[in-house]
Amino acid sequence: MLYAQVHLTLPAWVHDAVDMARTYDTDEDKVALAIALSRLNVEHASGGPFGAAVFGADHRIVAVGVNRVVPHNTSLAHAENMAYMLAQQRVQSFRLNAVLPGPVVLATSAQPCCQCFGATVWAGIDRLLIGARAEDVETLTDFDEGPLPADWVGELNKRGIEVVRDLHRDASRAVLAHYGQHGPQY
Ligand SMILES: [Zn+2]
Repeated sequence: MLYAQVHLTLPAWVHDAVDMARTYDTDEDKVALAIALSRLNVEHASGGPFGAAVFGADHRIVAVGVNRVVPHNTSLAHAENMAYMLAQQRVQSFRLNAVLPGPVVLATSAQPCCQCFGATVWAGIDRLLIGARAEDVETLTDFDEGPLPADWVGELNKRGIEVVRDLHRDASRAVLAHYGQHGPQY
């Protein structure tokens, strides 16, 4: 059989966990949501320990994402990619800041891997907010973050994307450490 479509979803619990009415005014607020999503994803056994969210200039959520690799048998289904795809579908544009007034922000619980770094180059965001570092992911869990350009921050900066790191890093590390110690529980 030739498969000709793919269907990816967020777990149903996100509808209760995410308040679309509130604003996330600071960088810390935005990353705190991404980390909360990462923790809930582990608690609900709905994917790996990663969360992300796209915000508009009004500091409101455009879309959120959590890791769905195992449930969907899809290596692309990282939290950042899920958030990008859902935001792009919501605004009906493959480049978010082509239609949304900037700055468009992605907040992620952990530094984008090589795949999500690539997705970030083309998603159409203006700012990237990060919790844990790649070295945190690789020391606290078994995940491989893959090869990145040595100056990956500079490569994003060259494309007009500001990068802010280490926001609530310890809180994100705590989720990763818990996952690393207890393993996936699907
Ligand atoms: Zn990734």
